[in-house]
Amino acid sequence: MKSAGTYRRSLNSSVISLKTREQIEHLHRANQIVLEVLAALQEAARPGMSTLALDQLATDVCRRRKVRPAFLGLYGFPNGLCISLNEEVVHGIPSATRILREGDVVSIDYGVVYEGWYGDAAITFGIGQVSDVARRLIQATEEALYLGIAQARVGNRLHDISAAVQAHVEAAGFSVVREFVGHGIGESPHEPPQIPNYGAAGSGVRLKAGMVFALEPMVTAGDWPVRILADGWTAVTADDSLSAHFERSVVITDQGPEILGKLDEREAYGQRRRD
Ligand code: MG
Repeated sequence: MKSAGTYRRSLNSSVISLKTREQIEHLHRANQIVLEVLAALQEAARPGMSTLALDQLATDVCRRRKVRPAFLGLYGFPNGLCISLNEEVVHGIPSATRILREGDVVSIDYGVVYEGWYGDAAITFGIGQVSDVARRLIQATEEALYLGIAQARVGNRLHDISAAVQAHVEAAGFSVVREFVGHGIGESPHEPPQIPNYGAAGSGVRLKAGMVFALEPMVTAGDWPVRILADGWTAVTADDSLSAHFERSVVITDQGPEILGKLDEREAYGQRRRD
């Protein structure tokens, strides 16, 4: 979460920190809990449920896991969960009067702080049957995320990630949002670098082992400009087209990108946990 402008102001350095293996284990645990929250919310979401009820469910998981919701109070955000429906792109505020309906496209973005380390991830899913364009949008956005992750390799440049995301999204006939970007993550929720979801391959800083990025394509079915609602937070597409958002946190290793938080994906990269 965060607009590029506000995020820039929150930075006091442009140095990209390299995490140690021990720090990465903390980040794995933080992201594992985030993924548990997202799975619980997707499982629970159904027509008639309020978006605030989902936020409360997320808080319950955090209480059980003894972690803090990372977005609660972050830059003044009022809740733990960012939940954005349909034409809302990111930073939607949970509400007791916002009720899920059949056909809604639901994007949920969650973060936790585990022993001082931040986990951050997002998914988009439909409530019941969604339109054909919604289904294709969700699929293309998730595919773009994983194509971006595949470029998070030692020796590549930062915008190799951006270009892979943009190419896939645009080939599917959709647009990438420019106003919001992915980011480094660690002991702060937003660290350098900013990672746009568009750009020229072969440009940007060279990637090194130990860099940890939260990659998060935000995609629209129409044009990419967004506007912010009167609540000061909710970003919606300016043309009211549907939007989708997927996010995973990833560490760059000498063996390739390692997705944080999910055991089976770690095993795929030969990084089996010892516990
Ligand atoms: Mg993020």
